[in-house]
Amino acid sequence: MAEPSIRYPRRVIAVANQKGGVGKTTTVINLATALAAVGHQVLVIDFDPQGNASTGLGVPPAERQRSIYQVLTGELSLDEATMATQVPNLQLVPATRDLVGAEVELMDGERREARLRDALFEGAADIEFVLLDCPPSLGMLTVNGLVAADEVLVPLQCEFLALEGLSHLLHTVERIRRNLNPHLAIRGIVLTMFDKRNNLSEVVAEDVRANLGGRVFDTVIPRNVRISEAPSHGLPVLLYDWRSTGAQAYMQLARELLGRYGKEAA
Ligand code: ADP
Ligand code: MG
Repeated sequence: MAEPSIRYPRRVIAVANQKGGVGKTTTVINLATALAAVGHQVLVIDFDPQGNASTGLGVPPAERQRSIYQVLTGELSLDEATMATQVPNLQLVPATRDLVGAEVELMDGERREARLRDALFEGAADIEFVLLDCPPSLGMLTVNGLVAADEVLVPLQCEFLALEGLSHLLHTVERIRRNLNPHLAIRGIVLTMFDKRNNLSEVVAEDVRANLGGRVFDTVIPRNVRISEAPSHGLPVLLYDWRSTGAQAYMQLARELLGRYGKEAA
């Protein structure tokens, strides 16, 4: 595996959108794998009680002895809950069903919005990229994710009314920036499930670019059956079928992301 030429300071990227089924988990798994494949040390934190990122990375419920829930309650440190995956350079803090309870239990705790941030402060020392797979809501878990993050990445499905939910999310990001995490940046919007045979995909993509301009990644993730098959094998699409257009798109997204950091550093 090639050594990356530049070591970046650790970046915590929350992948968020309160809508379900837009490609958050898919983006977390495959962007993480693409970054790991070029030699970066990556940690995925599964922050969704459904645990789809854990399953998709090959860790079924029965193999999740430790989870992010125990980190939020203070029972375990982040490093104690971290496990290796089959993907070299890629580690995971899995989620279990009891994470559902955290939404409620965190409502009246001390530093309730900063639990994850505090846990990250003390752990993951060798990690360069932390990717957070947020649940499909703007509740306490997503708020914890956004408070812990340096930046947020928003997958947006190319469908009717895509922009409507987005304004709500951007509003939440703004509120968190004002009150809890002043340096939270919007890294970008990633258009997902783009179907070139469907005219609507094209129209939505143009509309989003017209409204959000430079915040939208040039890379577009196509609708690709290999992407949807891969999780049932417990594999990122890059391991399942690296030649597929889906795998290539996520490699391209990783390159574009790293390119954006490179420009900032220069
Ligand atoms: P979210 O985490 O936002 O709920 P997922 O990443 O789980 O969304 O995606 C929802 C469903 O769509 C999953 O079954 C996933 O496999 C499928 N999917 C996601 N991205 C693509 C894509 N580019 N092409 C085909 N299927 C996709
Ligand atoms: Mg998901």
